[in-house]
Formats: sequence, C-alpha cells, structure tokens
Amino acid sequence: MQKILVSRCLLGHLVRYDGGCHGPFDLLARWQAEGRVVPLCPEVAGGLPTPRAPAEIAGGQGGEVLEGRQRVLTISGDDVTAEFLDGAQQALALVREHGIGLAVLKARSPSCGNRENYDGSFTGRKVAGEGVTAALLRRAGVQVFSEEQLPDAARALAALDAETI
Ligand code: SF4
Repeated sequence: MQKILVSRCLLGHLVRYDGGCHGPFDLLARWQAEGRVVPLCPEVAGGLPTPRAPAEIAGGQGGEVLEGRQRVLTISGDDVTAEFLDGAQQALALVREHGIGLAVLKARSPSCGNRENYDGSFTGRKVAGEGVTAALLRRAGVQVFSEEQLPDAARALAALDAETI
C-alpha cells in the first residue's frame, strides 16, 4: 500500500510556529485510518521549538537553501537554516524508508509550501516558490501537493496504487 508523507500541522498536531494547526481534513483522516499516513513536521524534527519565531527565505526559493545560496531567517534575524535542512533530510529519509511517492504538505510554509512562498520581507508578500522540504522531496521524485490540492493528491495516489497492483 502506497504511503503518504503529510505535514503534521494538517493532522491537527499543534506544531505550527504559533502553536496552532489546520484542518481537520476528511481525506487525510481517511488515509490515516487506512494506515497510509507518515506524519512529519520538518521544523520540529529539525530541532525547533513550538511556538517559534516565524521564518522566511529571502526570495522564497527553498531550492536555493538546499544549494547553500540562501538562508532561512526568523523575523528577528536568527539563522535557522541548519534546522530547516535537518528537517528536510529527515523527510527524505522517511520517503526512502517507506517507498513514498506522494506528499501532502502545508501550503506557503518555508519548509512545506509547494507552489507559493513568502518572499522574506515578512510583509505577507508571496512569490512562486517552495519550501526547503518540499524542494528536496520534489527533487527526489516525490509528487508534492498541498492541502489545497487534495483532489489532485487523491488522483495521484490512485495512479500510484494502480502501478503497484
Ligand atoms: Fe511543521 Fe510544515 Fe506544518 Fe510548518 S507547515 S508546522 S514545518 S508541518
């Protein structure tokens, strides 16, 4: 059975930077009941506390952080790049361990966002981009969706399940 990596904050875990979470999402609950869900919060896994200061990537491109060309900074200027990279590597390790081809990650997070990201100015301005974990997983061949694309994720899962029958 194909497993799915899912952002913990989408599963009701209180790991968001401000101590909150998102959801519930019926589809994610169903996948959990089926035993498909591998939960991860990359930032907490990387050693950051909850609550924690909001962080952004200048330019919003997690791939540049992976390449050492950009840093992740909190709103007060602390460098949390190492923690973000550690969390992304833990996500990759889980993907490899479980043979995961699909992830549902929180939209617009500097770790998890898959299509859009904040631009590093802490003004709410968004750019096309992705978080550090999302970028690493995509580069490893994982299909990364957000909670705003759950029907697309379900279709991708059905296709992966069909391949493994
Ligand atoms: Fe953790 Fe990702 Fe959710 Fe942020 S968006 S709280 S890093 S799981």
